[in-house]
Amino acid sequence: MRYLKLPHEKRREFLIELKGYGILYAPVSISEKNFDYKKVDDVDTIRFDYNRTVLPPRKYFFPPNETLFKFDKKDCRLIDAYEDPGTFVIFGMHPCDIIGLRVLDSRFIDDQPDTYYKRRREKGIIIGIDCLPDEYCFCNIRDADFADRGFDLFLHELDDGYLIRVGSVMGHKIVDACDHLFEAIKAEDISVMTRKEREKQAMFQHYENWDNLRYLLELQDSHPLWERESEKCISCGNCTLTCPTCRCYDVQDVPELDGNGGKRIRFWDSCQYREHGLVAGGHNFRDTKLDRFKNRYQCKNAYCETMTISYCVGCGRCTQFCPTGINYRKNLMEIRGDE
Ligand code: SF4
Ligand code: SF4
Repeated sequence: MRYLKLPHEKRREFLIELKGYGILYAPVSISEKNFDYKKVDDVDTIRFDYNRTVLPPRKYFFPPNETLFKFDKKDCRLIDAYEDPGTFVIFGMHPCDIIGLRVLDSRFIDDQPDTYYKRRREKGIIIGIDCLPDEYCFCNIRDADFADRGFDLFLHELDDGYLIRVGSVMGHKIVDACDHLFEAIKAEDISVMTRKEREKQAMFQHYENWDNLRYLLELQDSHPLWERESEKCISCGNCTLTCPTCRCYDVQDVPELDGNGGKRIRFWDSCQYREHGLVAGGHNFRDTKLDRFKNRYQCKNAYCETMTISYCVGCGRCTQFCPTGINYRKNLMEIRGDE
């Protein structure tokens, strides 16, 4: 792998260089406590110190709603409605979100190829940045606290700049095009990165091995936790909509009022909604809130064979953004007998 150093005083210039590759999306502050990825015009608004964004960056590859195609009744034809976003850059992705995106790749590219997702994925340049855990993070338990693939460039903060790992051909092109911004790394830079990595590891609150979890979730189907916690749930769907690996969607045909055509749209769905399991004839595969609540825990903790990790990358969003304070990690630990 190629390593370079970006001194702090060159950071702004580097971000402006990135804007030359297409629309730049990055984490910005959206309220006193919350952050989200937004299109960035002024690079000084980018927040390097954010903990997590409300929505994960999957929204740029698998949008909350999109038109799949239009249909024209008069000519009896389907019209491709894909809008090419052009090359775009997502700056500041944390390791858990980079790995979350690779989990989506395993479903939308490797397993059942999805043209819409794949076309956008090919346009996105990913610039990762390392982070420090807060009380919601458990990405270390989910093997998602360090990204070894899935990015073009990855930045590790040093005391006076960033150590950059170059992860792709595009990453090489970017740094070659502005090589005057970078320096060769020195022995002290490696020492600082090593120290910071150790400090990060020491900040996590939990270190258990959760390999048995997916089996315990099946075996503990009658655990009293399910009734107690699902009672608090209001089926708002925040936990799934904010999750970097959730990928359920619904599809609807929307006719034009003049009857001459229409469009097929797809939009994010949530297994926490009652309609999610409802099929023709009125049968519902998950009719009760209890069923739906359990389903999310079992789905997120199933094993993604391509990635050899679970479908949960431990980002903490489902706990932070649950309006009724349901603590997903604590619940999993209770099932494991840890709490
Ligand atoms: S289940 Fe919760 S903690 Fe796990 S990846 Fe999804 S939002 Fe993050
Ligand atoms: S965010 Fe909380 S209240 Fe909303 S559906 Fe998820 S668990 Fe239920």
